Amino acid sequence: MTHSLTLTKRQLDHMIAHVRAQAPLEACGLLAGKDSTVESILIVANQAQSPVRFVMDPIGQLTAFDWIDSNGLDLVGIFHSHPSGPETVSPIDVAEAAYAVVHVVLAPMDTQWRARGFWIENGDFSEVVLQII
Ligand SMILES: [Zn+2]
Repeated sequence: MTHSLTLTKRQLDHMIAHVRAQAPLEACGLLAGKDSTVESILIVANQAQSPVRFVMDPIGQLTAFDWIDSNGLDLVGIFHSHPSGPETVSPIDVAEAAYAVVHVVLAPMDTQWRARGFWIENGDFSEVVLQII
């Protein structure tokens, strides 16, 4: 099965602006949409307040899931940042992945932030192409 995720440049810029503002702490959020296409970015606070770890604030996460349901959308992705790298999911990300959705990792490369998508399954991960439209 091939996974993909489509999002707009504006949505990507929105995510990058948020994670950049939170650096050096990790930041996170949910991607809501339909059929592997992102329609909304939902920022959720990182309860861990850590530069190397994220734990979504449970109330914020519930509120976001309620919003997604009430708008007839699905959870299509989860994003978080690695302000000091790596630009791939970490072993902890793989171990703690709880949803079968695309995991987007944002990390700074030189002066620019980049986003990469990953599919996590059976303790392993593979890259997912992010289609930026
Ligand atoms: Zn991570």
